[in-house]
Amino acid sequence: MIVHQILVGGMQNFTYVIADEKTRKGIVLDPSWDLDRVTDAIRKDNIEIELIVNTHHHYDHTIGNEEMAKTLGVPIAQHVDSELEHDRELRDGDTVEFGESSLKVLHTPGHSVDGISLLGDSKVFTGDTLFIRSCGRVDFPGGSASVLYRSLKEVFGKLDDNVVVYPGHDYASDPTTTLGQERKTNPYLMAGSLEEFTALIGG
Ligand SMILES: [Zn+2]
Repeated sequence: MIVHQILVGGMQNFTYVIADEKTRKGIVLDPSWDLDRVTDAIRKDNIEIELIVNTHHHYDHTIGNEEMAKTLGVPIAQHVDSELEHDRELRDGDTVEFGESSLKVLHTPGHSVDGISLLGDSKVFTGDTLFIRSCGRVDFPGGSASVLYRSLKEVFGKLDDNVVVYPGHDYASDPTTTLGQERKTNPYLMAGSLEEFTALIGG
């Protein structure tokens, strides 16, 4: 799987171009700012984008949707609980396919009700659910510490140590990490109880 991790805008957001190596079909994940750099990456690898996917509805992950959809002529897919307009609804367990590659949709609410992560090829794209040595805020509308705790424990808890984490923001010294590394260093993943987690996250 080809992954372009593109740092965009003034809030350290990552937009991803993810494509099937053989067929060059792919998706754009979370287009927001600096769309010319995203289209440069698409062109450079001769990728045919088939779909825009958003990890959640927050504007810093979606503000480029309309322009990108128009430029590329592709539909937009979001979790069924997203309050924004979208063409395709995604639910937990669904598969996003492009060429001979696919990513599984994992519903990971807590930062927002419509938060999803995408898993495939030993990679997980976590949006604002899990960051390197950190996790998403829960003080926006729809945020919930207990729901986020459950997503981190029950969804990411089941994934292998070698799965590479691609977060929605560049908030750490490294742009990616592994779940095994996070289990040893991320205090939010290491929290042993909801009480401990809530004390850490403050909400
Ligand atoms: Zn967000």
